[in-house]
Amino acid sequence: MQQMLQNIKALLEKPSNFSIVIHRNPDGDAIGSGLALQTFLNKLGHQVSLISPNEVPNYLKWLPKTDQIIIFEENPELAKEKLSDADLIFTLDFNDFSRVSGNFTKYLQEIAPYKTFVMIDHHLEPSEYAQFKFSDPEKSSTSEMVYDFIVNLGYKDLIDKDMATDLYTGIMTDTGSFKFPNTTPHTMCVAADLMSHGINHNKIQIKIYDSFSLNKLHLLGEALNKLVFLPQYKTAYIALSKEELQKYHYQKGDTEGFVNYGLALNDANFAALFLENDDEGVRISFRSKGDVPANEFAKKYFNGGGHKNAAGGRTKQSLNEAVNTFLEKLPEFKSKLIHANI
Ligand code: 5GP
Ligand code: MN
Repeated sequence: MQQMLQNIKALLEKPSNFSIVIHRNPDGDAIGSGLALQTFLNKLGHQVSLISPNEVPNYLKWLPKTDQIIIFEENPELAKEKLSDADLIFTLDFNDFSRVSGNFTKYLQEIAPYKTFVMIDHHLEPSEYAQFKFSDPEKSSTSEMVYDFIVNLGYKDLIDKDMATDLYTGIMTDTGSFKFPNTTPHTMCVAADLMSHGINHNKIQIKIYDSFSLNKLHLLGEALNKLVFLPQYKTAYIALSKEELQKYHYQKGDTEGFVNYGLALNDANFAALFLENDDEGVRISFRSKGDVPANEFAKKYFNGGGHKNAAGGRTKQSLNEAVNTFLEKLPEFKSKLIHANI
């Protein structure tokens, strides 16, 4: 580890072109860690492009410099040019090229033999594309890891208020405001240090969680009304069709957090949210309590993965078929679901 940091530090010494790539449907952790790393590398004198596969969700657009993020879907030529010029490509908050999806995945696969990659990520089962691999599923978030990366390189003094805001946003969103099991004493120490940079933590909370549109709240109402609870499996799920989403003028990010309401149910140990989506078929989010392995379920049946308590996946099946697959496979997990160790 120390050697790897020394080697990277040497690469950071001469001005270079770098790219940072984050995962599709970027969340607070992807955007927060990406922006903070970009600012850090800029401060060291590098040219840095931050590339997202698709758009930044509205609830994160207030973060400084999000307007400079290159969106692969909207501007693939520019994104490819930046990647092809990059001396190092950082991949943040994902660990497999499939997570940028579509043509972007193909492009990364194409250039991988000629490029040097730095992975900073906290998901399980990392792929083997990175020459520099910082992979730690015990970490709350990639933002916590980017903080450690900067500090361990000896550049703690370069962290400024905007970077602290970015990193705090990532940690706060990935830990559910410091309440998920991934929150460690170290996470709290990092958050405390970030707060000491004069960030407005209450504003961050308000911008993310108390800035819903009326449409989103009405959609949440619909979703909660549709919530189904299966007591025999201690499982709750919500399925929203394209029509239902359209009715409330759905925008990316509007359903962020909906899946957690299923888990808020007293007796629920497992929750799923099914979203019918134009470009991807059906997207599913899974959440669980205790040792119920949401990621195993996502991986085995829905081409996905993630963490033990928060995972996602997708299927080309129709919404009804996807829900039926889910219902068919629940019995296999029954004893884990019923006897969850919390
Ligand atoms: P969400 O439900 O918020 O989209 O995703 C929850 C968690 O699961 C996130 O940490 C995300 O990175 C992970 N995740 C979502 N979809 C996938 C997937 O297709 N593959 C993997 N490996 N992880 C995923
Ligand atoms: Mn993350």
